[in-house]
Amino acid sequence: MPLNAIPPTTTVANFQCKLAAAENQCWVDVGFWGGIVPNNAADLVPLVNAGVRGFKCFMIESGVDEFPAVEDADIVRAMQTLRDEKTIVMFHAEKDCSSHNHSHGAAEGKKQDENTKQQLDPATYDAFLTSRPDDMELTAIRTVIELSATAPQLPLHIVHLASAAALPTIAAAQAAGVKLSVETCFHYLTFAAENIPPRATQYKCCPPIRAAANNEALWDALLRTGEIGTVVSDHSPCTPVLKDLENGDYMQAWGGISSVGLGLPILWTGIQKRASKQHLNNNNTTTTLAKPVSFADIARWICANTAKQVGLFASKGSIAVGKDADFCIFDPHDTLIVDQSVLPFKNKLTPYHGSKLNGLVRETILRGRTVFSVTDGHVPVPTGALLLEKRTV
Ligand SMILES: [Zn+2]
Repeated sequence: MPLNAIPPTTTVANFQCKLAAAENQCWVDVGFWGGIVPNNAADLVPLVNAGVRGFKCFMIESGVDEFPAVEDADIVRAMQTLRDEKTIVMFHAEKDCSSHNHSHGAAEGKKQDENTKQQLDPATYDAFLTSRPDDMELTAIRTVIELSATAPQLPLHIVHLASAAALPTIAAAQAAGVKLSVETCFHYLTFAAENIPPRATQYKCCPPIRAAANNEALWDALLRTGEIGTVVSDHSPCTPVLKDLENGDYMQAWGGISSVGLGLPILWTGIQKRASKQHLNNNNTTTTLAKPVSFADIARWICANTAKQVGLFASKGSIAVGKDADFCIFDPHDTLIVDQSVLPFKNKLTPYHGSKLNGLVRETILRGRTVFSVTDGHVPVPTGALLLEKRTV
């Protein structure tokens, strides 16, 4: 993401700095997002020409000072600037809708956090969840849809949707022809707010993990109604200090969950759980979901549709003649017990630690060559490329 680095990817010079740091450090092929912040409209087309796959902006305080939130006028300016480019504009879609707040700046965000703090113990997950209600996502998404008229041909995308309350609004916009795609994340489909213990800040992310009933509605949007097209990690690690592990204060801790590389067994496990639930509901008469799910569905959510989103479907996202031979060998009958101490993350904390997941990735193949196997680990020299070719779609 464009903000998880200093400097943030908001100018071409900053982008070059990130590329230099990534060179020869990537285990798989990697593309990059640019960032939209107030007053960088003049940098956006040069960033497209330098090879960013698209842009992310925040409609609320991002948590880092060097990546401020955009106002509606900034979004309109960015859309006007990018209207004829082959790119995509993505929104961290939470917007402050409380009556006492009139701006979305850091000071106001902190004020709201303090108000919540007075009422609820900040070490409880409920304190954090209450501070970021469904309405914040819904308000932001309505704004994106309203502003889409500025550049009707420009693809727009809602990153990490957590609130199922926004699904009818999204469905109506998509039916009306708004070029709006939506993703959710592994954690919103897996964890439920009512099960998150106090001081367990490894579960904190923004927007927050919501109640179990909400998660089921997200599954339904994936499996049946189709408003959500992709599932991603939104991998967002930080140091243990930033997670405030000592005090377990949800209001102070960094928001972000680490799960890159775990997505396939997480989704496979979630689908099997739903299949067996239905099995019980139907008095053991059936073992299938309302709509049978296959690996092809999972591949569509995490490979094909994501490759289309980033403009790489000509070479990535499916196994086909002429495309890069990127795939993994997955054993659906094996088991993965997640041990964060051996995860290949610099900062290893993850709420999946200790989880027993169905399925195991035995081998990962990048452009025809094995880069990881369960028996040998990673190959000694990273061979991932930095993908900078301009989008053609
Ligand atoms: Zn975000």
